[in-house]
Amino acid sequence: CGIVGYIGTKNTQEVLIEGLKKLEYRGYDSAGIAIFTNQGLQVTKAKGRLANLELKLVDAPLVGSAGIGHTRWATHGKPSDVNSHPHTDNSLKFSVVHNGIVENYLDLKDELTSQGHVFVSETDTEVISHLIAREYDGDIVKAVQQAIKHMRGAFALGVLTEYEPDKLVAVRQASPLIIGIGEGENFIGSDIPAILQHTRNVYILNDGEMAVLTQDAVELMTIEGNFISREMIHVDWDA
Ligand code: GLU
Repeated sequence: CGIVGYIGTKNTQEVLIEGLKKLEYRGYDSAGIAIFTNQGLQVTKAKGRLANLELKLVDAPLVGSAGIGHTRWATHGKPSDVNSHPHTDNSLKFSVVHNGIVENYLDLKDELTSQGHVFVSETDTEVISHLIAREYDGDIVKAVQQAIKHMRGAFALGVLTEYEPDKLVAVRQASPLIIGIGEGENFIGSDIPAILQHTRNVYILNDGEMAVLTQDAVELMTIEGNFISREMIHVDWDA
């Protein structure tokens, strides 16, 4: 339902939680974040209000320089801690937030299960993290491009891998996603209010497009890998 992502030197956890609060108006049943910490990719998620997630983070804050966050409106699998996003693969090296529906997830789940992947949630989303892990061969952008070739349906994605901690990958296919451009930091969001307190400069992705964010740069391309240029939009309204 709601996506926010950050790469930069601010307090990542705070940027993600504040961003998710701005997306609360869309409705949700659970929430979660994944952040690169010095112990690797760490995920914290909780059913219910964002306050439940914040309570868990009080006891165990996540400190790091890149992260993704999600508020979920369940379509496949009941609202629960386990079904909340971000979802990971069995190696815990890949992490995904997803808005939308992977229509062929049952077929993909069968295929991946027969290849040895073990699923822990009831969601359609979990197939995405497993697909990316399966396709990964040293290049997260290629792995995401390969993975989405297998997926049918609507998806906006934020993807992180521990193997390439300097990158945040975003995809838009029939579910909205925008990129926020900062100085020495960059953002993704399912809607502009999620990032507006940090930057007013945005790129709007179109269907079939993706973005690769580092702290200092944003590359835009089609999901086939052709680079594109896009005019930056300056947002002059307040959320
Ligand atoms: N289909 C996914 C799920 O049920 C994502 C739902 C959403 O857009 O929040 O987990």
